[in-house]
Amino acid sequence: MRREERFGCSETLNYLSGYLDKDIDGSLYNMISKHIRSCKPCRSLFKTLKKTLDLCRKFKPKVEVAEVKEEELSKTLKRELEAFRRFIQGQKKC
Ligand SMILES: [Zn+2]
Repeated sequence: MRREERFGCSETLNYLSGYLDKDIDGSLYNMISKHIRSCKPCRSLFKTLKKTLDLCRKFKPKVEVAEVKEEELSKTLKRELEAFRRFIQGQKKC
């Protein structure tokens, strides 16, 4: 079995933060790109994470704003991650 074929949602989730920071090796990066393109839940999670990171970076200079926003964002993020984990668990039954 090729490594690529076994690359699924849980692997994507494991490496997603590294992927966003481009802190993983090229072949792994490509596999995640490929998975995100073909998997809708991963794609929406990726978009949410990216948006969150962008917003955090944007608001960082303003400390007061950052505190409020990050709290709000982490709530959204937690919801997304929970939904995503449920999705993965459902998928593993197959
Ligand atoms: Zn997926």
